[in-house]
Amino acid sequence: MTILPAQPALLDRWNARRSEPGLLEALRADPATRVLLVHEGRARVTGGALVLVGPDDVPSDAAWALLGARADETPVLLAAVAEQAEDTDWEGGQWAGVREAATSLDAESAELLTSGVALAAWIRDAPFCPRCGATTELRAAGWSRCCTGCGREHFPRTDPAVIVAIASRDGERLLLGANALWKGGCSPASPVSSRRASRSSRACIARSRRRPACV
Ligand SMILES: [Zn+2]
Repeated sequence: MTILPAQPALLDRWNARRSEPGLLEALRADPATRVLLVHEGRARVTGGALVLVGPDDVPSDAAWALLGARADETPVLLAAVAEQAEDTDWEGGQWAGVREAATSLDAESAELLTSGVALAAWIRDAPFCPRCGATTELRAAGWSRCCTGCGREHFPRTDPAVIVAIASRDGERLLLGANALWKGGCSPASPVSSRRASRSSRACIARSRRRPACV
């Protein structure tokens, strides 16, 4: 079984800045910005480290998004690339997915990789509005889509849920849940948290404890 790193969120997601006009363009024009390339669920990895490139090294067919800022405050963008990625002569490294690479990366890089792969899949695979079929435009630095037909706003897909066992310190008791609509009936149910692209596994567990378990 592959054990993926489960650490507190290390990236500053810049949630409050995502809707800032011109943010992505300004970061793409800054040579200090680092970019994670993702192609069909894989990123460039070498020697146990993610390969982050400069904005000028990104193929022209890329779809861009903001992943956040690293601990040293370096902004990191996502470039979801398609056809040109296979033809480009990249320096060093090889394409690797989350299962192959995440366990060999440091926690911050693993978080970049898992978020980048999830967000890139949504950006590439969901260009049309599920309500009316019209095309959508990326907004909020790549974290939402707005339909050009009906105006509905869409957000990244929800990834598989995390089922959490909350036990007492002595290991003798397990927290179970019951829905208020069951009117007193009890059915064993452990807290479950959906795993969004921007949420680490550790954050999912913490959220399950707070909501809806409230412990
Ligand atoms: Zn629509």
